[in-house]
Amino acid sequence: MTYRGRFAPSPTGPLHFGSLVSALASWLDARAHGGTWLVRIEDIDGPRTVPGAAEEILTTLDHFGMHADEPPLWQSHRIARYQEALEQLKATGLIYPCGCTRKEIADSLLHTHARNTTLAYPGTCRNGLHGKPARAWRLRVPDGDTAVITFEDRWQGKQTQNLATEVGDFVLKRADDQWAYQLAVVVDDADANITHIVRGADLMDSTARQIYLQRCLDVPTPAYLHVPVVTNDQGEKLSKQNGATALDNDKPLETLGAAARHLGLEMGVEEHTTLDSFHAAATAAWAKHMGMRVQRN
Ligand code: GLU
Repeated sequence: MTYRGRFAPSPTGPLHFGSLVSALASWLDARAHGGTWLVRIEDIDGPRTVPGAAEEILTTLDHFGMHADEPPLWQSHRIARYQEALEQLKATGLIYPCGCTRKEIADSLLHTHARNTTLAYPGTCRNGLHGKPARAWRLRVPDGDTAVITFEDRWQGKQTQNLATEVGDFVLKRADDQWAYQLAVVVDDADANITHIVRGADLMDSTARQIYLQRCLDVPTPAYLHVPVVTNDQGEKLSKQNGATALDNDKPLETLGAAARHLGLEMGVEEHTTLDSFHAAATAAWAKHMGMRVQRN
């Protein structure tokens, strides 16, 4: 197997400590496997993308000594591929146009799904638009036992999600004409031959959807590893919205040391005065943590 991993930041702001932890974990896992590490800028969510943020993220990764093995890939350049994937799914009858507004979905859930709090789409437009204009495209999820997706997370162990009861038919192209993250990520990971996905545990909940979509598109499923997310004092996931600050490009070793500690890596983080020595020690510590041997390429 030729290991190929990636870090896929959304340029909604500069890199913060939470995203650095994900970047470091995916970088170390690729290095420990003697593999290739890629960076993909997930800039297709027009309303959330901040101009200049992608360049800032790439500069910070550089200052922190994490260098991609291939030029970064930009999702905004790959719209034609997402359209192709949508056409492929249309041809199989697995997707359908949906005319529901958010409010209609919420209202119908209030009546039919009051017994639980999960907001699974109730499938209103599965068999037709009821005279409403098409707004989004949804992927039909299976019913019954085949709706249960199970996978082994390399960090968190066995995971199971029932797509029918916990998610419902999910959106691939949004009402505002934007491509959904789920579709873009699956198409991009497949086209880049990604074998291992290492990212924050906040994305765990999306993984079953992505595995199902891989099956529908007939592409391989990579190995998954979700690292614990960094939270603030209120226990919320650190994000730009709740005040995470940009990283200081002039103090990479201090911040990398804190990220290694967050990941529970056993290494003397203070001993390192160069990025090279830090990354070599962190790679060995990661491999030990994961019960593997460092492989040289
Ligand atoms: N762009 C996503 C984020 O920043 C990560 C996507 C992924 O790693 O699958 O949350």
